[in-house]
Amino acid sequence: MLNADQWFTEVEKSAASAFSLKGRRVHAEQTPFQHIEIFETERWGYLMVIDGCTMVSTRDNFFYHEMMSHPVLSTHPNPERVVIIGGGDCGTLREVLRHQDVRQATQIDIDERVTRLSEQYFPELCESNDDPRATLAFDDGIAWIRNAPKSSLDVIIVDSTDPVGPAEGLFNVAFYASCREALADDGLFIQQSESPLIHADIFKAMGEAMREAGFKATTPLFFPQPIYPSGWWSATIAHMGELSAPRSDATTSFASALQYYNPATHAAAFAVPPMVRRLISSD
Ligand code: SAM
Repeated sequence: MLNADQWFTEVEKSAASAFSLKGRRVHAEQTPFQHIEIFETERWGYLMVIDGCTMVSTRDNFFYHEMMSHPVLSTHPNPERVVIIGGGDCGTLREVLRHQDVRQATQIDIDERVTRLSEQYFPELCESNDDPRATLAFDDGIAWIRNAPKSSLDVIIVDSTDPVGPAEGLFNVAFYASCREALADDGLFIQQSESPLIHADIFKAMGEAMREAGFKATTPLFFPQPIYPSGWWSATIAHMGELSAPRSDATTSFASALQYYNPATHAAAFAVPPMVRRLISSD
């Protein structure tokens, strides 16, 4: 939504709340999958909006992209084969490729236009797209994972839009079961799991569905994300064994390039507030 004073506003009907950024719309298009808009804001750089929902801003995307990638890649003992489902802005891919253990990183986004617009408006997020270890595929992530060979992946990162439209099928037991099959036994799965404050039902249901799909356990982590509804966001890791402590040297070689992630923010992100503990343990 854009009003006469040039404020973009995302209304979160379920919470009767809204978030606004001042700026002007510089691009809008309807793709076969979704409606994409780009805003040039006054203080937050560029903003990508899909189907009315904020996706990425120049100013604050680092929280999300760093926390979707470094916690799992630092925890896995040897993350060589990584797949990103969604993530078409390429920010998560850039973070994944900072890890030299990674030999192949495949990004599968259903909508090529997201990547082409990101190359234009967020070139810094796309700076690693030509890395020889990277493959950019434009396909439905649900079908791609279903067809992936058994035990062929070390880490799956689901960096998707909300559970409506093309992303709806990325939030159910059947999809999680395909991911479980595609992962090696020590593999790690992580998916953005919305706001534990205002999307508590989705957050809870996702963990339950991952365990129902055959993962032994799920572990949530929390981080700020100012442009997303409520400003407080989560991701959920699904795993087969115990989740280890992060390798102490996992991000040392590129620590100076990061803005939010370090060993202390890693530990802090896994602290479970009492309201979430009660949510997880309630029927
Ligand atoms: N960080 C964002 C968030 O949490 O709001 C997500 C950003 S990323 C741009 C989301 C991407 O998921 C979009 O580019 C969209 O095209 C992609 N996507 C949605 N459904 C998909 C599917 N079934 N397979 C692959 N990609 C999908």
